[in-house]
Parts: sequence; C-alpha cells; structure tokens
Amino acid sequence: MNKLLIVGTVAFDAIETPFGKTDKILGGAATFIGLSASFFDVDAAIVSVVGDDFPQEYLDLLTNRNIDISGIEIVKGGKTFFWSGRYHNDLNSRDTLETQLNVLADFKPVVPEKYKDADVVMLGNLHPLVQMGVLDQLTQQPKLIVLDTMNFWMDCALPELLAVIKRVDVITINDEEARQLSGEYSLVKAAAKIHQLGPKYVVIKKGEHGALLFEGKEIFFAPALPLEEVFDPTGAGDTFAGGFSGYIAQSENISYQNMKNAIIHGSNLASFCVERFGTERMINLDKEEVYDRLKQFRSLTQFDIELE
Ligand code: AMP
Repeated sequence: MNKLLIVGTVAFDAIETPFGKTDKILGGAATFIGLSASFFDVDAAIVSVVGDDFPQEYLDLLTNRNIDISGIEIVKGGKTFFWSGRYHNDLNSRDTLETQLNVLADFKPVVPEKYKDADVVMLGNLHPLVQMGVLDQLTQQPKLIVLDTMNFWMDCALPELLAVIKRVDVITINDEEARQLSGEYSLVKAAAKIHQLGPKYVVIKKGEHGALLFEGKEIFFAPALPLEEVFDPTGAGDTFAGGFSGYIAQSENISYQNMKNAIIHGSNLASFCVERFGTERMINLDKEEVYDRLKQFRSLTQFDIELE
C-alpha cells in the first residue's frame, strides 16, 4: 500500500453557523484530511501535536480509520490548538473569532521513520515552518507534494510560507486566499502568478462554486454537488485535500489527467463534510455512500455534444 504522510492541525473547534453553535468539538486540518483520505487504500499517517487536554476517544477515531497517529505528539500540561469561527448567512464566507496556537507555537515535528519515504506528502494547514520541517526529514523525494494553507499564515509568516510553496508540486487554496497571495483579482491571473512561486499545479477552491485545476494554460473545472442542505462548511477544504491526495496516493498516477479525477474525488468527499457539524458526517460515512454520490457527480457533468 502506498504511504500518505499528512501534516496539519489536530484541534478543538467552536463553530457558529446560522443553524446553530457548538462548544469545543473535534476539528483541525489534519483530522479532516485523514478522515477523508481513509476512504482510499492508502497507508496514511498524521504528524501533528495536541495537549493532554485532547480526549483519547478522538485519537481512537483516527486509529479506527487505520490512520497511524505515532507522529502526533502529546504535550504534557499543554493545551490543544483552538480555532473558533462564525459563518455568514450565505455560508460561503466566515470570520475567524479566535485562533489559539497553544502547543502548536513551539511544535517541532518528528516524522516517524516508517513514513520518511512516503509516496505522497499532504502538507495541511499549519505553520509553514512545521510544513518545511517535515519536508526536511524526508529521506526520499515523494512522487507528489501537495500544500494547503490559509490567509492566517499569509498574514503572519509570509516569507516562510513562500519558501515552502517553492518546494511543492500542488497548492490547494481558496479563491480569496489565491487573490491575497497573488495580488490579482482574476483567478486565471492569480493561478499564473502562483505557478511562478513554484507549484506546477494550482487548485483554487471556490466553496459551493466548485474547484479549478490549473496547469500552465490548461484549466479544468469540477463543480460542487448542489446540496439541499449545507449545515457547516468547516473542514470542507481539508476534506477536499484529503480526497485529492488520498486518491493520488492510491492510484500512483500524478498526470494532469488523473488530477482531474482527484479533484472530483475531493469535491465528492467534501460534499458530505458540510452536511453536519464538524467531523460528524465524515465519521459516520461509509464507502457505499461515497460511491453512490460519485455516480451523481458523473451525471451532473456529463453531456453529449458532438464536436468536429
Ligand atoms: P477549512 O474549513 O477547510 O478551512 O478548515 C477548517 C479547519 O482548519 C478547522 O478544523 C480548524 O481547526 C483549522 N484551522 C483554522 N485555522 C487554522 C490555522 N491558522 N492553521 C491551521 N489550521 C487551522
């Protein structure tokens, strides 16, 4: 089985949407990525950090999905990363109310020996120095390195972020962040500028409006499945990244053609994530539901126009 190394926050989230409010629940970029990637036949591992306030049952949820957690450090007396956010009525935009780095502030990642030759590395959202620290420990160049990040790190660690972006093959980023990073409003121009920063492939996520894949002048678009109910978009971007990287790791094919399939898988899994608060839907999801929805995706986008 191919190895997928995942880095990112494992966190407590407190979320407010027009439909309700949660206290501290399980969240974090690596959590969503791992849960999503677990729908593929990959040997996945998470590198992250939590405090000893983090419940064992949350760690067990990951282990039950066959995710290796030996790279999740538990800091004695430390407090787990905490994020809280409030969504606007359209659910496409949100305000961060609070980000407490806590144990993440001094985290020095240690990649387990077994995953130093990972086939695919998914650098999920956290401090770019941690993302870099993971790349520096690899003993073999992975077939693909994917990076996800957010405006928070552009605001507080831009030089470090640019240094790690230079070393990755694929960047996944949302539309507003692509504009911030590139200084361009047009997403086509933004992708061209981001290519110049290093990544050969640029994926721009547009929430309920789907995702775009750019490779130079080539553009592919995957819609988001129109859903009757969107409850909480938290983690949708990470779930997308988990589906994308999990599928690539399973299929061992890093061609542009196959990346199109990867963004469909990512969009498919993300469509489940938003149906409940936090990780709830992903935890109760089974492979059959994922497969059935993939069929819906296909019929959503297939048409028969014959062109000369
Ligand atoms: P998404 O909705 O895909 O952007 O991801 C939301 C998840 O990212 C939440 O579960 C948060 O715990 C986590 N998160 C929020 N802010 C940050 C940050 N600055 N760095 C890393 N992870 C974060």
